[in-house]
Amino acid sequence: MNPTWTPTSWRSHTAAQQPDWPDEGALDLAVKTLSTLPPLVFAGEARSLQSGLAEVAAGRAFLLQAGDCAESFDAFSADGIRDKLKIILQMAVVLQYSAGVPVVKVGRIAGQFAKPRSAPTETLDQVELPSFRGHMVNDITFTEAARVPDPDRLVTAYNQSASTLNLLRAFTKGGFADLNQVHAWNQEFVATSAEGRRYEQLAAEIERALRFMASCGVDTEATPLLHTVDFYTSHEALILGYEEALTRRDSLTGDWYDCSAHMLWLGERTRQLDGAHLAFLAGVGNPIGCKVGASATADDVIALCDALNPDRIPGRLTLITRMGAEKIDVALPPLLEAVKASGHPVVWTCDPMHGNTFTAPSGRKTRHFDAVLNEIGGFFRAHEVAGTWPGGVHIELTGDDVTECLGGADEILDADLDTRYETMCDPRLNARQSLDLAFRVAELLRG
Ligand code: PEP
Ligand code: MN
Repeated sequence: MNPTWTPTSWRSHTAAQQPDWPDEGALDLAVKTLSTLPPLVFAGEARSLQSGLAEVAAGRAFLLQAGDCAESFDAFSADGIRDKLKIILQMAVVLQYSAGVPVVKVGRIAGQFAKPRSAPTETLDQVELPSFRGHMVNDITFTEAARVPDPDRLVTAYNQSASTLNLLRAFTKGGFADLNQVHAWNQEFVATSAEGRRYEQLAAEIERALRFMASCGVDTEATPLLHTVDFYTSHEALILGYEEALTRRDSLTGDWYDCSAHMLWLGERTRQLDGAHLAFLAGVGNPIGCKVGASATADDVIALCDALNPDRIPGRLTLITRMGAEKIDVALPPLLEAVKASGHPVVWTCDPMHGNTFTAPSGRKTRHFDAVLNEIGGFFRAHEVAGTWPGGVHIELTGDDVTECLGGADEILDADLDTRYETMCDPRLNARQSLDLAFRVAELLRG
């Protein structure tokens, strides 16, 4: 770690995508409050995640990173958190059982409250207002008052992250994620579908395997790994005042960690080499992700690797490619070759969502399930040719029965999008589409 780095070093760089806070005093007060509050995660946990990601970088494990595009202050409930965890556990067990590789599980959760925007303002019926930037900043309602950035929201985001993380810890360590519960993760509306039935079969096989091990004399009750799960949190490190306030010096190593989440990532719009976001994340000890779009050159990516992981620590850096199904075949191979030649030990993961977003004739922002699968297919093909490991997927999903992405086994059509279009930002796969995707990725991994 750079010895001159401090949590405020980013302030001497240009920070893209920051809100125009109307009241600097109120912002300072909120940031000061945050800096006195307990860290949300412990540095040792971030190091455990980094060890897991080092296994992914070495081609011995797979990363499943998934959750909301943007978490909401309004749609906040125990059931929502539980159902999101259920679908992620289901996907992980499908990948792990079918493909035989350990799965590192990371949620876009407990802190994913801030959004970069392609334009600073939004116009509706000739009224121009500041864009919605996520519940950590302002509200989505299209009124002047709702769109004013409010620093008290930083503290609300912290509090909601703390209670979300508390419930996740309870579920994953308190019995809910026990392998004996595989059937219980299949929600009713999923269980009645073809992919849900396929999952039931797999769950029955796992139960048989557990009974078999017990009959051989293996004390499965006394094997903690069968009863708890390591589940990590992540979000885009966008609002730098918030991240700075939660950055603390680890008492064990003396290193700085951003204790707002286990893993933080740089977005496609905030990964400038001389920018504040990179200057900030370069100095924290957490594992870091960086989105890489189709326009990134091999030189750009090597420069990102050098800046974010100069010591070439395996598991430190995850490159999240988000190129679009149409572009990945051309855009990804040169990057894989360049990083391979550089010797940088990165985790490569595929975000098949953000390069495939379009506005349907109905006016809804959506993605087609086929495009999502096609981009993942291109990702696996490119890695096969390069001899590199297709290390994971990064998915926007929900445990709910929403109609936000087109296609899938249900064949959701443009006319269906209005039925249950609930996202506050980008369209998410519903639980059935997500489970279906996990089976397809498992097949690619086996192949
Ligand atoms: C996102 O992950 O929600 C996002 C905005 O992605 P990107 O930075 O890749 O556009
Ligand atoms: Mn998104």
